[in-house]
Amino acid sequence: MSTIIKNTFGITLSGESVYQYSLINSKNTIVNVLNYGGIIKNIIIQVANGQKDLVLGYDNLCDYESDTYYFGAIIGRNSNRIKNAEFKLGRKKYTLEKNDGNNNLHSGSEGFHKRVWNSSISDNSLILKYTSPNGEEGFPGNLTVTVEYTLNDDNELKLKYTAKSDRDTVVNLTNHSYFNLDGQISDDILNHELKINANSITEINNEYIPTGRIINVKATPFDFNSPKKIGERINSESKQMVYGNGYDHNYVLNGSGMRTVAEVTSKKSKITLTVKTDMPCMQFYSGNFLDKVVNGKYGKVYTKRGGFCLEAQRYPDAVNIISFPTSILLKGQEYESCTIYKFTNE
Ligand code: BGC
Repeated sequence: MSTIIKNTFGITLSGESVYQYSLINSKNTIVNVLNYGGIIKNIIIQVANGQKDLVLGYDNLCDYESDTYYFGAIIGRNSNRIKNAEFKLGRKKYTLEKNDGNNNLHSGSEGFHKRVWNSSISDNSLILKYTSPNGEEGFPGNLTVTVEYTLNDDNELKLKYTAKSDRDTVVNLTNHSYFNLDGQISDDILNHELKINANSITEINNEYIPTGRIINVKATPFDFNSPKKIGERINSESKQMVYGNGYDHNYVLNGSGMRTVAEVTSKKSKITLTVKTDMPCMQFYSGNFLDKVVNGKYGKVYTKRGGFCLEAQRYPDAVNIISFPTSILLKGQEYESCTIYKFTNE
């Protein structure tokens, strides 16, 4: 189990104090989490000749405050896109920010990723808590959310999410870490080998919006049931790949309950990331929009496909697509989900 050390990280433009919590286990793995946006700032593991930091991000708070890539952050209330930035609950229509063309992405530009969360340490976990007021970013209901971060001695980082609302609302929480298992030495993740245990994806249109159709990945460049290099088929001219500008698709994961859903390995660093979750879906995003991010950590400039995201979540835009399992949290009901990232190095 880990020790947790709290340090001051900075003060937001609006004057709120932000802390960095370092979760350190017996292998000397260090996971730094900010109570700003619930951001995972570093995942540092010890390797034969030093250390590697496996996630992208910034060194300073002001860079996180102006970030548009959602580096490492908790996304809420709703991950992914909502078509036309609107939905109906009962008879009432709710209007959200159009921050991605005509649509809403990741709840808007001032979602949970830009909030200062209350923080506390309980046993060996860091607990972040945020109460989102009724109407915030256009969503109904006062919603209380907690995310519990635990790092164990097997290099498993567990994120446990809970939420409760006083009105029916939409809840679909995820973490938006960009991984690069080579640490900060490779410019892209195209040589990483990926396995996703999923037979289908939710089809998107040319605005990344789910059409409602679920398509089988067999014999397509989206099939990762056996490990494949991310770059092997990324330039395919299939319509879905062109629409996604690479991989930017929601996988409908095989099985249910807590299970292993993905495994990524870099042959270069010999580091493997294993993802386990109890969520039904996972967005695989190959960092297609990263474009000369000049203020990366350690003075690094992040470029296209410099990192990948595996965002465990509910079905995208389920509030508008009735054939998808619901993403509505009913008044008084408990939302609970859990995702584990495990890091192994030979
Ligand atoms: C989306 C991408 C988007 C990115 C924002 C991902 O979850 O799927 O389309 O550009 O988040 O950085």
